[in-house]
Amino acid sequence: MSDIIQLLPDHVANQIAAGEVVQRPASVVKELLENAIDAGATNIKLLLKDAGKTLIQVIDDGKGMSATDARMSFERHATSKIKKAEDLFNLHTKGFRGEALASIAAIAHVELKTKEPKEELGTCIKIAGSKVISQEFISTANGTVLAVKNLFYNIPARRNFLKSDTVETRHIIDEFQRVALAHPNIAFLLHHNNNEVYHLKSSNLRQRIVAIFGNKMNEKLVPIDEKTDILTIHGFVAKPAFSKRKRGEQFFFVNDRFIKSSYLNHAVVSAFDGLLEQGAHPSYFLYLSVPSNTIDINIHPTKTEVKFDNEKALYAMLRATVKHSLGQYNVAPVLDFNRDSSLDTPYHFNGKSTAASTPKISVDPNFNPFKEKIKQGKDFQFKKEVKNESWESLYTTSIETEQEQQAKLFEHQEEEKTQKTFQIQKKYVLSSIKSGVVLIHQSLAHQRILYEEFLESITVKDANSQQLLFPVKISFSSSEIEIIYTIKTELESAGFSFDEFTKDSVTIKGIPSSVTESKIGIILEELLNDINLEVPDANYSHFDTMAKSFAKTLCIKTGTTITEKEQENLVNNLFSCKEPTTSPSGKSIIKTLKSAELDKIFNS
Ligand code: ADP
Ligand code: MG
Repeated sequence: MSDIIQLLPDHVANQIAAGEVVQRPASVVKELLENAIDAGATNIKLLLKDAGKTLIQVIDDGKGMSATDARMSFERHATSKIKKAEDLFNLHTKGFRGEALASIAAIAHVELKTKEPKEELGTCIKIAGSKVISQEFISTANGTVLAVKNLFYNIPARRNFLKSDTVETRHIIDEFQRVALAHPNIAFLLHHNNNEVYHLKSSNLRQRIVAIFGNKMNEKLVPIDEKTDILTIHGFVAKPAFSKRKRGEQFFFVNDRFIKSSYLNHAVVSAFDGLLEQGAHPSYFLYLSVPSNTIDINIHPTKTEVKFDNEKALYAMLRATVKHSLGQYNVAPVLDFNRDSSLDTPYHFNGKSTAASTPKISVDPNFNPFKEKIKQGKDFQFKKEVKNESWESLYTTSIETEQEQQAKLFEHQEEEKTQKTFQIQKKYVLSSIKSGVVLIHQSLAHQRILYEEFLESITVKDANSQQLLFPVKISFSSSEIEIIYTIKTELESAGFSFDEFTKDSVTIKGIPSSVTESKIGIILEELLNDINLEVPDANYSHFDTMAKSFAKTLCIKTGTTITEKEQENLVNNLFSCKEPTTSPSGKSIIKTLKSAELDKIFNS
């Protein structure tokens, strides 16, 4: 037989790599902004058209590239930032993989203009689908202008997968804010469809935060500063009174790079212990510097997750520092600095000896608690099988060793046959857990589950939609019609599709698959109600209100009998939620009675 193995042609390899690096316009924005910063720019402009779908252009005044480098920069694994493997452990730049430009050029029309300050002339390169179309000398300003047009033009499936302009713009603004917050000394400009969105002058950190989040932020900020051998922390937390109902203004930067860390978040939140209302989230802008050889930022292609060498120490220090500052600024009533800091970690080892193994943050970037849930046409049903191993662990803690997770999994499988739930007064579900019992408010619990499910399907995934056999025409007042019209795109991302808008009616031809036809009217009415109650906030879309409203309307109500299987599924689905303890409106869902408390009741 003849040989059949071939090397993939470069443009195919680049397209495949692009899938990893570029998920949406915001990914391109992140890569280009980071390149501009690596090039030493002091002024960076970002121009967008149609949420970046038509154009993303980044203009910088950095060091530019030579003609050869300009051409090289589009080759895969072409980077000026590392020369040997050891350099990886001592990175001071954002980039290092040398994949971004090659990937972007594989899936868009790209035009690069660049000039080094010492040269007379610059270079202009046009490239599309990895093919160089032209390269010439031009006169251009010092620095680099990179224009990315028609993203995913050659991968229609990816292009169609993009969300509405509102959603994609939100993602871009998130990236932009992160970069701008990480570099307050750099001036940034953001224009979208020729409108100025941000004009940020070079400034200090406090000014930058205020420039992005508004003047009101100024009085809320409590400074944080701490320096030790292994860690420097600086930045701000917002006073507890200004904590948010929604998560959002929570930023960690490690060595000037935005990161996500549920572990460090836990440290900060626990420093606010007793100061926050139920369900409130503290805002924070925290900048950690650690020696670059003690972290590994290379564990995720989009590079927002970091592995630290001394996680536990960082945790304790961060918690203590935040606590201390809150105390100094007189916002914490009681403080105890002398407590044993080993108690400050969120571990819950069930008495097992795990001292030798390194704890692992169980963050799976692709984790999607909804993926396996079956979308229901019925009002109340849960999927038959849920990941049983996750619920208890999510409740007590989200951080465990891998072995422990394994152990739990087996424990649960054995336990399952005997595990029982009971419904009480058609209102609560009682379930036993290893450490005691939990009482769960059935309606609020279901609200939480539906809320997260809706939010996920609206903002992250393609929403599941069902086409109606016969379109439904519903009457509304003209002002209500106007509101529905303004949130049309958002409703569409939730799975609605509309046929005709008149002055006093709307015809609906598709609805989210988790909604029944008979509920369309009430769902929209409730939503209009909730939107009217909302404080208008131009910066946010109505997604959150929408998800809350839908969840509230569709959740199983108090007074409904549910079967044992449904009870179990309710419990399991609840504990797969990101925030199982509070309802979307901030009410408490769960009451736990530990064995010790039970014993106390009976004096046994
Ligand atoms: P990486 O940033 O990981 O090195 P990229 O594909 O993002 O990989 O960029 C490849 C190379 O192109 C960079 O290493 C850098 O030398 C050069 N480059 C990219 N953007 C710019 C820019 N705006 N200014 C100067 N050089 C740039
Ligand atoms: Mg780069």
